Amino acid sequence: MVKKPKVLLTRLLPQPGINLLKKYFELKINPEDNIMSKEKIIEKIKDKHGLICLLTDKIDAEIMDAGRKLKTIANYAVGFNNIDIDEATKRNIPVTNTPGVLTETTADLVFALILSTARRIVEADRFLRGGKFKGWAPMLLLGNDVYNKTLGIIGFGRIGRAVAQRAKGFHMKIIYYEPARLSHDIEKKYSAEYKSFDDLLKESDFITIHTPLAESTHHLISEKEFSLMKKTAYLINTARGPIVDEKALVEALKKRKIAGCALDVFEKEPDVEKELITIPNTILVPHIGSASIETRTKMALIVAENVIAVLVNKTRPPNIVNPEIYK
Ligand code: NAD
Repeated sequence: MVKKPKVLLTRLLPQPGINLLKKYFELKINPEDNIMSKEKIIEKIKDKHGLICLLTDKIDAEIMDAGRKLKTIANYAVGFNNIDIDEATKRNIPVTNTPGVLTETTADLVFALILSTARRIVEADRFLRGGKFKGWAPMLLLGNDVYNKTLGIIGFGRIGRAVAQRAKGFHMKIIYYEPARLSHDIEKKYSAEYKSFDDLLKESDFITIHTPLAESTHHLISEKEFSLMKKTAYLINTARGPIVDEKALVEALKKRKIAGCALDVFEKEPDVEKELITIPNTILVPHIGSASIETRTKMALIVAENVIAVLVNKTRPPNIVNPEIYK
């Protein structure tokens, strides 16, 4: 009998993905439902042909060196800033991600955050549960409208566009920034207008970030950018924490340079800047952008298909992030 390739999975995923993986591989799963330590990954990777990891696993040269038999790294996420791609490419290791299936689910969360922050939903819920509701009042928990407002989208890729699609239903004026202006057809499809970065910051009532985390986007939003925003603006970040300078954000909120923020991602995740927790006009959720049963299941199947492509079918995986190794 031909031996199955060995694959390490750093954390339990939805069952359909596990079932598919088990058909093809000798699967070693982290038995604990927690983040696998680097030491443990190094220990377990030694005889593995494939690694399936999460955005919470930092996969660097040391791990790749320990995995002498490693032939592929499959990330259970669309972002892949947790993996040293250059080091993987140097070693001819294809790295994959799970793009596309998270788009609509993450865009749904963005809209939930836009509405919740503007209409103070979380604060209102706490108010009621705190026994403070004494009846309808003209000045009770007044928020801001979303309808007809200007939405600034930084990074107009898959998720940025899915957010724009939703914003059209709210009659929002959609403006976007990308390093290079997109085609007329895309702009027309989403009724989106291209703006310079600074103009987007100045004109938006809601600013939502959808760029990948890279050197060029680290602290893309910092003190200077907050000073350009409207005092009534809300910032939404569901991309990656370090794109926003959290200390500058705290200052901006404390000095009322902006009206509020809603964050799904944090600079030093899972740690959260202490002051953010005490500031009332913030909504903080624990990185749940893609957290729907449907999407997490699809991601588990995609991650499996990527590994099957490399280790079983010996083909280029569908979601390769370092395609240069196939040239
Ligand atoms: P995408 O690649 O389709 O879109 C990213 C866009 O950002 C591209 O169009 C790119 O040109 C643009 N961009 C790059 N640098 C930029 C810059 N400096 N300024 C403006 N735009 C810039 O990616 P996507 O699928 O839309 O996902 C975006 C990011 O969202 C991912 O990289 C990931 O980190 C994050 N994400 C988070 C969650 C979550 O759970 N919160 C879920 C999915 C994705």
